[in-house]
Amino acid sequence: MHRRITGKLVVATHNPGKLSEMRELLAPHGVEAISAGELGLGEPDETGDSFRANARIKAVAAAKESQLPAFADDSGLVVEALDGAPGILSARWAGPNKDFTAAMTRIERLLQERGATAPSQRKAYFVSALCVAWPDDHLEEVEARADGALVWPPRGSEGFGYDPVFMPDGYTRTFGEMTSIEKHGLPPLGLGLSHRARAFVKLAEACLDQR
Ligand code: IMP
Repeated sequence: MHRRITGKLVVATHNPGKLSEMRELLAPHGVEAISAGELGLGEPDETGDSFRANARIKAVAAAKESQLPAFADDSGLVVEALDGAPGILSARWAGPNKDFTAAMTRIERLLQERGATAPSQRKAYFVSALCVAWPDDHLEEVEARADGALVWPPRGSEGFGYDPVFMPDGYTRTFGEMTSIEKHGLPPLGLGLSHRARAFVKLAEACLDQR
């Protein structure tokens, strides 16, 4: 049985960008998002071997510490020709300085080494795993992906991370060339385009009041 999310929800992230994105997504459903930073919660090590496991580690730790329901996400880019890299290491490939130009260049170099020049050899997808954990150990978990192909050179200055090299299937522009409204493609305009928007739509259907 799914459990409804009502009232206060801790958003288990210390990343201001993610926090404001999640606040925006939750506000129309009457949920008040409080950040882990505001509550002074710790940041657990992401030691899981999957997106789902890492989202769960973050949500469970925040729920236990705050004694409130807590929401966490884990996401990343999976490149098929690179056996799934960078995957759960997507943030780490950018290093401590969050240098995504270097991370995108590293991916491109590896693709070139494998002779991956045709779009069919450059398939990739973003994954978003979302977890809501309650202090009594109840969990709600959803996962979604956005499929596409990697382009080179990077295009567009919107978005963040690997957005400039990711062209979603059926489009001729990268996520880096799209506004956030277009990238997320949420209802009532769309059914969700980005991995995070698609995962959020699933969570909303299962657990949030529709207003
Ligand atoms: P984490 O979920 O904070 O562990 O980090 C996920 C990493 O994956 C981010 O640092 C980004 O590099 C990358 N990523 C996840 N979602 C997106 C996206 O929508 N666009 C571009 N990069 C993303």
